[in-house]
Amino acid sequence: MEPILEFIDVCFSYHSTNGETPALSGISLSVKPGEFIAIVGPSGCGKTTLLSLISGLLLPESGEIRLLGKAQGTSGANIGYMLQKDHLFEWRTVYDNVLLGLEIRHGLNQQTKAQVSSMLDTYGLSAFKNSPPSALSGGMRQRAALIRTLALEPDILLLDEPFSALDYQTRLEVGDDIGSILRKEGKTAILVTHDLAEAITLADRVVILSNRPARIKKILPLHFDEAFDSPLKRRSAPCFSEYFDEIWKELKSNG
Ligand code: ADP
Repeated sequence: MEPILEFIDVCFSYHSTNGETPALSGISLSVKPGEFIAIVGPSGCGKTTLLSLISGLLLPESGEIRLLGKAQGTSGANIGYMLQKDHLFEWRTVYDNVLLGLEIRHGLNQQTKAQVSSMLDTYGLSAFKNSPPSALSGGMRQRAALIRTLALEPDILLLDEPFSALDYQTRLEVGDDIGSILRKEGKTAILVTHDLAEAITLADRVVILSNRPARIKKILPLHFDEAFDSPLKRRSAPCFSEYFDEIWKELKSNG
């Protein structure tokens, strides 16, 4: 299967009046369609920079990024972003919030509206369609934000610490929820997180980055038996703590 995303020896530095800050060094990574990749690494190592490069907000200094088998600038790939804050507008109903992306892109029609209504239904939000976002719990808000992003049918979804503003219990529930939705929709997702358990419960592979400038220290594939088929169930799998230890050890090793 052809990769949906490829980093080929990508380097990137920030330039400011204070000088140069090298952020990424020799990053090579290949992601298959439908894969869920988690990126972990020390604070300030370059994780968000990596996402900005995928979305095209930043361009590589050297090396190449390919999306859908084409050079990034010509790929036409549709990239979705999910952030810590859900950015739902209180003055719009939940329904009008989830339609917002389509509205901005002039993509509103009977078919896209029906798709959004069906997602609200599938993911338990249809009873809140005409309510303001304040009527939703923290988890439901993130679900609404995800539906708004999925409505645009992104080829790749970038998740930048999307659950870190939530309290611990909600975070577990929402992680489970969002992870299951993304699996069901077959989306390719790249998650940046500092929460190792979150990475292990959600991802197919964990990419472990070094201190800045980030290089890939290790890519760890995760294999769970079928009995552990949801993020919450993965937490009780015997291999969970082994994966945790392996990533922790790698992060703590020099560099
Ligand atoms: P992470 O997401 O891993 O915490 P970032 O990708 O946000 O790290 O940042 C990597 C490094 O680049 C950090 O040291 C940060 O200070 C620096 N950096 C980020 N954005 C800029 C910028 N616009 N100008 C200069 N340096 C930046």
